[in-house]
Amino acid sequence: MASAITIAVALEGQLRLDDQPAFAAAVGLARQRGARLIVLACRPEGQRLRGPHQRRLEAEALSALQGRLTAASIPLLHFPQLSTAAALAAHGELLRPEVVLHCRESWLFDDWPIAPDSFPRVFADFRRGLQQAPLPPRPPADLAGLGAGLEGWPQAWLQAQPQPQSPCLAPDSDSVDPRSAFPFRGDEASALARLQHYLFDTDGLRHYKASRNGLVGTEFSSKLSPFLGIGSLSVRRIWAEVLRYQALHGADEGSEWLKQELLWREFFLWSEQRHGAAFHDPGGIQGRPPSWVADRERFRRWTRADSGHPLIDAQLRELLATGYLSNRGRQWVASHFIHELQLPWIWGARWFEWLLIDAQPALNTGNWAYLAGVGSDPRSFGGTPRRFNLEGQLQRYDPLQTHRQRWS
Ligand SMILES: Cc1cc2nc3c(=O)[nH]c(=O)nc-3n(C[C@H](O)[C@H](O)[C@H](O)COP(=O)(O)OP(=O)(O)OC[C@H]3O[C@@H](n4cnc5c(N)ncnc54)[C@H](O)[C@@H]3O)c2cc1C
Repeated sequence: MASAITIAVALEGQLRLDDQPAFAAAVGLARQRGARLIVLACRPEGQRLRGPHQRRLEAEALSALQGRLTAASIPLLHFPQLSTAAALAAHGELLRPEVVLHCRESWLFDDWPIAPDSFPRVFADFRRGLQQAPLPPRPPADLAGLGAGLEGWPQAWLQAQPQPQSPCLAPDSDSVDPRSAFPFRGDEASALARLQHYLFDTDGLRHYKASRNGLVGTEFSSKLSPFLGIGSLSVRRIWAEVLRYQALHGADEGSEWLKQELLWREFFLWSEQRHGAAFHDPGGIQGRPPSWVADRERFRRWTRADSGHPLIDAQLRELLATGYLSNRGRQWVASHFIHELQLPWIWGARWFEWLLIDAQPALNTGNWAYLAGVGSDPRSFGGTPRRFNLEGQLQRYDPLQTHRQRWS
């Protein structure tokens, strides 16, 4: 191996080159010091194993990233089971990096976005209390002329890495159910193409507020969450593109609503950080566990899309087959699970986390706890959680039973 020093960049659940400040810093340092770069794709500390749908997306993102890095002669090593610390402990002797930089998830804000020690329990107060504007994304670093070649690294490792595939927006007929509302690949180019498509190539964003409660098809909402979940898209890039859209077309209802949803995401992420483990406890941030019936057989049937309610079963079949469910569908399923089946909400949340193609624990738990009446729903503080009337919802959102027929 060449004698130049080695800088390792650890991508911790962040499978892209765009908006990666730590990656850009590593590239700058490598140029300055004539160092060689190696990229490690590791599991973020404490992250549970991803489920099957999210793993497919992750593999696609990794494979495309591998292609781009290989073209720049920069090796990428994938340690799907290991955190960065564990990977370095196991393989540090061979890697011998002098510097290790960590690419962690970038949120809209780097620092605590509201006055210290006053983290609000409800979203409206969070939004009102924000003291800073979201940060702009950082452009991807220029990799040209950087790579020191792939020779010298353990060949067994390099050969075991995912093979590059060309990114595309078309369904991959081998592994994606053709009925899926998310038929896209997971790589960065597909993520950026979807962003461009929804914001600029179609009227998607303009109509977002009216269409976002849809149930069928690719266009009723942005479908950006799966890319955010595996880090092939940066939330700061989305925000910046929405601002660019608003500069061109004005701040219409659709674009303002999308910004609000991205702030909901931020609210749950910061809320989880604020409350720590209690955020995921049965009693949630209210510390008041609801009563439930821990009926394993009822739960087992539910996991097989046999809940006893045809509307819910159609949603569950879609979840099982594709990993994606509309926001409306998720709300119905969770509400039915908690209030009609009276099962422990943490069981439902864990099942969702395993199956969702966009699984993100803070967002998943935040939404489940909200519906279980132990989270941030202001109505639930008085003791009355939100409960959906499924027949009324069906009349309103699927009067022709299009979704039910599709997933019958
Ligand atoms: C029970 C339940 C579980 C959920 N679990 C997850 C999860 O694990 N991962 C996840 O990304 N979202 C989760 N959501 C939130 C939401 O349903 C999805 O983000 C959304 O449906 C994804 O599709 P989209 O990107 O087209 O959304 P859009 O409607 O286009 O929204 C744009 C973005 O805003 C954010 N967003 C939208 N709605 C919410 C919300 N209710 N809470 C927080 N952020 C939101 C997401 O980042 C989303 O990508 C859950 C919602 C419920 C009710």
